[in-house]
This record gives sequence, C-alpha cells and structure tokens, in this order.
Amino acid sequence: MLEINHVTVCHGKKEAVSDITLHVQKGSIVTLLGANGAGKTSLLQAVSGLNKITSGSIVFEQNDLTNQPAHHIVEKGIGHCPEGRHVFPEMTVKENLFMGAYLRTARKGLSRSLQMVYHYFPVLEKRSRQMAGTLSGGEQQMVAMGRALMSQPKLLILDEPSLGLAPRLVQEIAQIIKRLNREEKTTILLVEQNTLLALNIAEKGYVLETGRIVLENRCAELIGNDHVRRSYLGM
Ligand code: ATP
Repeated sequence: MLEINHVTVCHGKKEAVSDITLHVQKGSIVTLLGANGAGKTSLLQAVSGLNKITSGSIVFEQNDLTNQPAHHIVEKGIGHCPEGRHVFPEMTVKENLFMGAYLRTARKGLSRSLQMVYHYFPVLEKRSRQMAGTLSGGEQQMVAMGRALMSQPKLLILDEPSLGLAPRLVQEIAQIIKRLNREEKTTILLVEQNTLLALNIAEKGYVLETGRIVLENRCAELIGNDHVRRSYLGM
C-alpha cells in the first residue's frame, strides 16, 4: 500500500533519514522503532508532505506522492496524528474534529465520520463543546487521533500516541488502535517509544538508528531479537 523507497530527508545540511526503504501492506499495522533523534518523525513528516525528501520516492496505492503538498496527500487517503498532539486549544473538541475534515472529499461524509470518532472515543462526544486546551493529556490525544480520522484515511500515521500518558490510558489507546485496524480496516503506521507496546500491537517492525534501518522483521521475531531486547526492552 505504502512504499517508501530509498528515501533521504535532510534538515539543512544534516541528514536526518538516510536511504530508507520501508513497506506497509494494506490492512496491516507496521511500527517504526528507534531512540530519540533516530529520524522517525522526519520520515513520517516526509510521507505526509511536511518534509521534503532529497532522494528516493514515496508511492501510495500506485500514486507517486514524492514531495507532493500535504493537502494532496490527505486527499489520497493518508491521515497524520502528530507527535505532541497539537490540538487547537481555544477551539472546542467538535471544532477541532471538524478541522480534520476540511477537504471537500471528507466534508461529504462529515456526520458519518463524526459518529465513527464518537464511537471509538465516547468521551469526546461528552466533551464536544469543551475547549480542547482544558482537556487532560489523554483526552487531547484522543482529539488528535479523532481529527486525523475525520479525513477518513486509508492509512493512519500515529507519531508517539502514548507519549506522556498514564499506563491505563496507554492500554486504552492501544486497544483503540487495534480496533480501528480490525473493524475499520484502517492500515496503521505507528511510531512508539514504548517498544513493548508497539511490538505487541504491530505485525511488522523496523528499527531505525541514526537515520538508517538496522533491522526489519515480524514483531514476534523482533521481541526475541537480542539487540532489540538489550537496547529497547531493557532485558
Ligand atoms: P523523537 O523521538 O525525539 O521525536 P525522532 O526519531 O522522531 O526523535 P527526528 O525528530 O526525526 O527524530 O529527528 C532526527 C534528527 O533530525 C535529529 O538529530 C533532530 O535534531 C534533527 N531534526 C529534526 N527536525 C529538525 C528541524 N526542523 N531542523 C533541524 N534539525 C532537525
């Protein structure tokens, strides 16, 4: 479904991502693991058109999306829930969600999308008129995920959805990611610092170190890999 082929991303003169090849199969959950600064966000932002790539290509369902504008990429079916949530604090929950459906194609199915988001995140319906800036961290994460879902994406990119959340909420978010994949058939590309969580949710994983893929395998295999256990699971 998504083919990232030999992609390099630079910030100024610094190469943040070097010659990365990564494939996401339709219907799957794929995780990208790595320490702080490994280049995960830089790569995800390149897929979503928020970073330019200096070489390589990004192809989604046979469409070449390399260096296309972000709105075009959303229109093709890729939704991005960014690291740090970035909700609009002085807008209500519902207004935040509507911001995810500003494209003509998404506006058509607006009320169905809203009902779908409320189905997975019932608390957002209860708080629909509350200013997003007054929500808890976990609720803001739900708004950010819900906003990305409002564009009815075929592929949902999640950058650190569990960051800073209490353990109970981390588990809740994990369950929702699995349900979205199973029930809505949404393909997921997940970046997570909580390595064990990511390996338990996803089918396939890639390990990124200083901008390069150093390992790729089925998650069941990665959990048993010595390097992963030592460096990422603290075992
Ligand atoms: P984290 O988990 O901490 O978010 P990451 O794996 O997502 O880390 P990136 O944020 O992609 O890593 O950063 C990769 C490298 O690129 C880092 O060395 C970072 O300092 C650098 N970098 C990221 N964004 C920029 C930017 N806008 N300008 C300059 N350098 C950047």
